[in-house]
Amino acid sequence: MTNINKNENYKNPLIDVGEYKSEHYEKNLNINTPGAVYECIICGKGIKHSSKHHTIVAGGGHEMNLIHKDEWDYAESIENKDGGFMGAFDIGSECVRKLKHIPNIKNYIRKPTKEVK
Ligand SMILES: [Zn+2]
Repeated sequence: MTNINKNENYKNPLIDVGEYKSEHYEKNLNINTPGAVYECIICGKGIKHSSKHHTIVAGGGHEMNLIHKDEWDYAESIENKDGGFMGAFDIGSECVRKLKHIPNIKNYIRKPTKEVK
């Protein structure tokens, strides 16, 4: 079961995806992936291409407590009263697939955006 957390600082509940964190996270984090720009918060692997780079924003004192997209601007503003606001993290496309079955998860993960040159 995925934990849906009510948090008084946000209108939408937070979704805790902590259970999906890879047991190899630490090991993967230490593997130096040549050319990697980001590291996935779920598996720790390097993400090379921005086309595979998804974003999450977390709060409530835990980096895998996902905040609804509609509230990202609020969360990152000084109005946010959530002392446990964690900021934005990166997630690879492989790990996004592991979360796909969670209801409404689409509203909690931002797809890769084309880079403006
Ligand atoms: Zn990953």
